[in-house]
Amino acid sequence: MSQSILTVNVGSSSIKTALFHSDDGNALRRIGGASVTGLPDRPQLTVKDAAGTVTTDRALAPPAAGRDAQDAALDPLMDWLDRVTADAPLAAIGHRVVHGGPDFAEPVRVDDQVLDRLAAFVPLAPLHQPHNLAAIRAFRARVADVPHIACFDTAFHQGKPWRAKTFPLPPAYFARNIRRYGFHGLSYDYIARTLPEVAGHLPRRTVAAHLGNGASLCALLDGRSVATSMGLTALDGLPMGTRTGALDPGLVLYLIQEEGMSPDAVADLLYHHGGLKGMSGLSNDMTVLRASDDPQVVRTLDYYAYRVAQGIAALAVDLGGLDAVVFTAGIGQNDPGVRAGVARHLAWMGAELDDAANAAGGPCLHSPDSRVGLWAIATDEAGMIARHTLAQARR
Ligand code: ADP
Repeated sequence: MSQSILTVNVGSSSIKTALFHSDDGNALRRIGGASVTGLPDRPQLTVKDAAGTVTTDRALAPPAAGRDAQDAALDPLMDWLDRVTADAPLAAIGHRVVHGGPDFAEPVRVDDQVLDRLAAFVPLAPLHQPHNLAAIRAFRARVADVPHIACFDTAFHQGKPWRAKTFPLPPAYFARNIRRYGFHGLSYDYIARTLPEVAGHLPRRTVAAHLGNGASLCALLDGRSVATSMGLTALDGLPMGTRTGALDPGLVLYLIQEEGMSPDAVADLLYHHGGLKGMSGLSNDMTVLRASDDPQVVRTLDYYAYRVAQGIAALAVDLGGLDAVVFTAGIGQNDPGVRAGVARHLAWMGAELDDAANAAGGPCLHSPDSRVGLWAIATDEAGMIARHTLAQARR
């Protein structure tokens, strides 16, 4: 008999779920998904079938006064879940959790103690962790009879060497958990497992570039993370949709001490008004930016590719060279212009793009003579959560 696995991915304004069936207890088949976006004020329910076709897309009534919007959004999601699990009982729920801190190197079955430990990491990811934990509590309250598995964005990076985990600060800071963690680990885990199938072998020294609204790089040595561009928080490294990525830390001090900005105003600037959106003055949506010929937009896109390439070259130090680059997430999978810009900056390392393959979207993007393999691979974080959840639930 089929079993169902639900995956849950919660952000500040959305709850996205995906449902998988496991027929023989191993292989997972995506059956569909339901999401509520536009939280808290304008909730919108979207349901997709196995082919990704939208079957429902409707506005929900705003939550009643005093009712938590996230909890209210669970009502229609539970109705959907009851329907789609009628023939295949729910075996477990997998939750994406942004921060596992220094404690969690792999997914974990959630109990009250685990939730308390995860709450201690809220200050390390104040924008995401509280929503993740609130959702776990809400789902546990409604579906108490199946295991809930927390899958972390940080866990995949847990095996990095010390040099890639530390900041140049006195050791007491490291002891206080002020470390380079790294994120997008579920995406990199998926890419590391999928690349051998796509490329026919596992390139030893690979940099994976997760370029979506959030963006980061991961150095994969034999498929394992040895370094990544994000740090203590998901603000470090590459410029992103609206996040600045790495800056001169003295700039932050200057804004506070010389320009009198409050720490909250600086945080708002760094998280919401930087990156592609802030720099272009137009949008964080790559499709909008590509359609513009405004010189500042063109400069922004050139700058973005330059910073991605610079980050890849830096990670080649961690790898002792570079055999392959994998582009993934919304921009990496879909934007030939960014890939071409990055490849141009890496030409000195022997990266040679095949323009026609790049325009067609790959997965193989490089010319036969290229010394660096270039690939575009769609990531599947929900699929990765489902795999981990099935494995953990069986333990
Ligand atoms: P998130 O980090 O929110 O999961 P995604 O991985 O979905 O983000 O990536 C969002 C980014 O991908 C946006 O900048 C969006 O414009 C871009 N994107 C999506 N589709 C395309 C496309 N066909 N061409 C270029 N960029 C795209």
